[in-house]
Amino acid sequence: MKTVYDGKEHCCGCTACENSCPTGAISMSPDWEGFLYPVIDPFRCIDCGVCRNVCPFEHADRVKYGPFQKSFLAQHREENVLMQSTSGGAFTALSDCILTQGGVIYGADFDGEWHVVHRRAQTDAQRDRMRISKYAQSDLRGVFQQVEQDLSVGRMVLFTGTPCQCAGLRSFMEGKDTSRLYLCDIICYGIPSPMIWQSFCRMIEQERGGQVSQVQFRSKAYDWSRENSNKVFLMATTEDPVLRLDDRYYQLFFKVRSVIRPSCGSCPFTDRSRPGDLTIADYWGVEKYLPQYNDPRGMSLILVNSSKGEQLLEWAQDAMFYLLRPASECMAEQARLREPVQLPANRREFWEYFDAHGLAAALEKFAGHQA
Ligand code: SF4
Repeated sequence: MKTVYDGKEHCCGCTACENSCPTGAISMSPDWEGFLYPVIDPFRCIDCGVCRNVCPFEHADRVKYGPFQKSFLAQHREENVLMQSTSGGAFTALSDCILTQGGVIYGADFDGEWHVVHRRAQTDAQRDRMRISKYAQSDLRGVFQQVEQDLSVGRMVLFTGTPCQCAGLRSFMEGKDTSRLYLCDIICYGIPSPMIWQSFCRMIEQERGGQVSQVQFRSKAYDWSRENSNKVFLMATTEDPVLRLDDRYYQLFFKVRSVIRPSCGSCPFTDRSRPGDLTIADYWGVEKYLPQYNDPRGMSLILVNSSKGEQLLEWAQDAMFYLLRPASECMAEQARLREPVQLPANRREFWEYFDAHGLAAALEKFAGHQA
């Protein structure tokens, strides 16, 4: 059977191949872990090689800038923006610059059934839904061609996503006019399976009744610190509408780690050379380097990787306070600027157990949670 990739550890599911195939021979299809992979229709494939050539995972150096040029500690000036953002509100400040110039924003949102999908925003309200980090791989199907369409009619575009998603878009756009395209990647710690996220929602619904009605990953009502903020996942259902803390999804992501996509273990975008014009993340370690700025409302790290990124940051300077910092701080604190996440040796055992017994039982066996 023809494939675009040699082994799942070589495919990040970015959709660059699907969008580039001249005969439409490629469709993205979920595997037994719920991750999307390209599948080739052999009757439509003409063996042109475009799909393999456009793959950003195999040609990572072609879709990265050199090592980042500057790193900043940053924070949005408005309290309400800070409290509704995962870090220091950098995404809101940067996206405001594009929206006020008539541009569009692409980022991760939830659909009506809590699937994580990439969406297009033209208003503040649509953009605000993209603010909070989403801990499952987003569905990008159809998005790159929408971005191309926006650029072709002269719109400015800010695309935010994981480094592999930004790299995929860069690769898809190679040779086309990207002067109005701004890419902002995040420092990504590995991307969990959409199937596990959906199974988690069904488990919560079974336990609490009704349908999931609210999700807050990393709520600042409780904490913003590396030690605790990732544990602060809250959910509510229609039968039990109180947002309740639940650290089991955190356990799956940060401790069990088998739920992370295989390619994350060999990700070529885990160094200081970035695919985005800017990179954003939490400013971990602020309490060590600048204790006077250790604000529980959150602080952002912004890496400037290109002249376009520098320009975007300049536009945002009225909305944000920022401070130039030595690269050594983020290099010491952000492991994903140094190396890929390590996937557990018993990853397959987890999936076989989950497949046979369901998520509650897998949580009990692999994370020590009583079902
Ligand atoms: Fe499409 Fe060409 Fe890849 Fe075949 S080789 S799937 S025609 S891009």
